[in-house]
Amino acid sequence: MKGKDRNKLCWCGSGKKFKKCHIDRENQSPIRQSDFIEINKKVKNKKICMAPEEIKCDCSKKIIKAHTISKNCNLKSIADEKNNLATLKLSNLNIEKAENPICELSIIGINKASTYQIFCSKHDVELFSVLENKNFEFENIQIFMLAYRNLCYELYLKESILDTSKERRCFDRGKPIVEQLSIQAHFKFYDDALNVGIRDLKLLKEKFDSFLTNREFDCIRYYSIEISSISQFIGSCTWFPIVDFDNTKLADLENIEEIFNPISASIINIDNKSLIIFSWLKDFYNEQYCMKFISSLNKIPNDEKSGAILHWFFSSVENLYFQLSWWNNLKSEEKNILINFYKQPMLDRFKLDKSFYKKCSHMLNWNILNIKHNLNFINY
Ligand SMILES: [Zn+2]
Ligand SMILES: [Zn+2]
Ligand SMILES: [Zn+2]
Repeated sequence: MKGKDRNKLCWCGSGKKFKKCHIDRENQSPIRQSDFIEINKKVKNKKICMAPEEIKCDCSKKIIKAHTISKNCNLKSIADEKNNLATLKLSNLNIEKAENPICELSIIGINKASTYQIFCSKHDVELFSVLENKNFEFENIQIFMLAYRNLCYELYLKESILDTSKERRCFDRGKPIVEQLSIQAHFKFYDDALNVGIRDLKLLKEKFDSFLTNREFDCIRYYSIEISSISQFIGSCTWFPIVDFDNTKLADLENIEEIFNPISASIINIDNKSLIIFSWLKDFYNEQYCMKFISSLNKIPNDEKSGAILHWFFSSVENLYFQLSWWNNLKSEEKNILINFYKQPMLDRFKLDKSFYKKCSHMLNWNILNIKHNLNFINY
C-alpha cells in the first residue's frame, strides 16, 4: 500500500490509522490459548457496584463477589457433600471454534458459583435481604428484587464483554486477509448486538432504579410454577423474548429501532420444593412479547412443561448450575441434547423445538403442584 493510504483510517473500523492497525497483520504472531483465558478473566474481574445512582454515594469501599443466585437456600440445595456444583463451560470467544464451540462440564464450589463483582458489601446485603433473610412469599418486592439482581448481572456481563472488544479485534493476527475480514465482520456483528442489548438493559435499569428508589414494587408481572421437589438445576437470567415455546418468532433484535422488554427468569429451591419464576416490568416498553412467550408456556400440558423449561433454560441461561449426581445419571444421548441446547446462543440459530419437550421432561421427573401468576391471558 502506498504511503498515503497507510495514513488513512483502517478498514476494520478500529478508528486507528491503517499503519498502526491492520498493516502486516498477517505476519504478526497468532493469538494463543492463554490470550483467550486472559480475556475471560478480564470479563470476570471488572468491579462495580450496580446499586441505583441515588444511593451510590454511600457505597462501601469494598466491591465483593456477590452471589447472583442465593447461596444458602439455592446453590446449597443442589450441591454435593463437598459443596460442589456442576455447570457447562463454553469456549465462546474462540473464533476458531465458532462453528462448533467446545462445551465442557465444569465443577465449581458453591462459594464461587454465580458470583460476580457487581455490588459493594453494603448494598449486596441491603438490597437483597428480602431474598436472603426472608421466606419467599411472592411479595412484589421479592419478585422485583429477583429480577433486579438478574438485570444487574446481565448488564454487567454485557458491558464487561464489550470492554474486551479491543482485545478480540486482535484475534486475526497471523491470518490471511480473507480471514481477517471475516473475523472482523464476526466481531462487528457481535459488538453491535451487545451495544443494542446494553442500550435496552440500561433503559430498563433506569426504570427499575426509579421504582426501587420510590419503593414502588407493584409494577412487576410474574408467572410462577411450583414443583413438588427441588429442581435439579438452577439458574437466572434476563432474556429478550425472541421466540415463544412454539418457536414462533417474537422480538426481532436486528430491528434496532425498537426497544424490547426483557423477561427475567429464576429458579429457586425452598425446602423441598422449587419455584420457576418468570417476571417483567409492566410499565416498560411493549410487554406483548413477554405475554406471548409466557402464554405459550402456559398452554403446554403440565407433563411436558418441565421439559420445555429445561430446554429453554439450557438454551438461554448462561448463569446455570446443576446437581452433579443428576447429570451423571443422564444417558449420554440426553447429555448431548442439553449440551447442544447450551451451545445454541453461540450459533445464531436459536430455536425451541417442541419435539424435545417430552424427552426432556423424562430427564427431570417433576410434578407440577401449582401455577401462580398476576397475568391476564384473555387476549393471548
Ligand atoms: Zn484495523
Ligand atoms: Zn454500593
Ligand atoms: Zn442471560
